[in-house]
Amino acid sequence: MTDCIFCKIVDGSIPSKKVYEDDKIICFYDLNPQAPVHVLIVPKEHICCADAINEDNADIIAYIFTKIPEIAKTLGLSNGYRIINNCGDDACQTVKHIHFHVLGGKQLAGQMA
Ligand code: 5GP
Ligand code: ZN
Repeated sequence: MTDCIFCKIVDGSIPSKKVYEDDKIICFYDLNPQAPVHVLIVPKEHICCADAINEDNADIIAYIFTKIPEIAKTLGLSNGYRIINNCGDDACQTVKHIHFHVLGGKQLAGQMA
């Protein structure tokens, strides 16, 4: 998608500090980290948000979740981590290309919202 920051990170036209990449997904450090470790896991296919997940595209979401333990291990998150997906305006989703935040490296706050 032309005007999508994460599509541009996927195609390399915007640089990122990559943690993991394969033919289906990319994982890179968040520009504005909210924890000592804060990465984003993004499918290469443009899906706007969790509200657009359906039977046709659900495989990539499942695939991301199979890769998270491997990525977390690489990042040294042996004591746990938080996975966050913001969906839509009430959740303050700022980039409209679905992504999963993985945060850790300290004891995170107990409050969710
Ligand atoms: P959202 O608010 O949509 O759930 O999360 C978007 C995230 O993308 C934010 O945490 C923001 O810091 C991050 N972000 C926005 N633009 C860029 C960028 O160009 N590069 C990287 N690495 N992260 C970005
Ligand atoms: Zn996109």
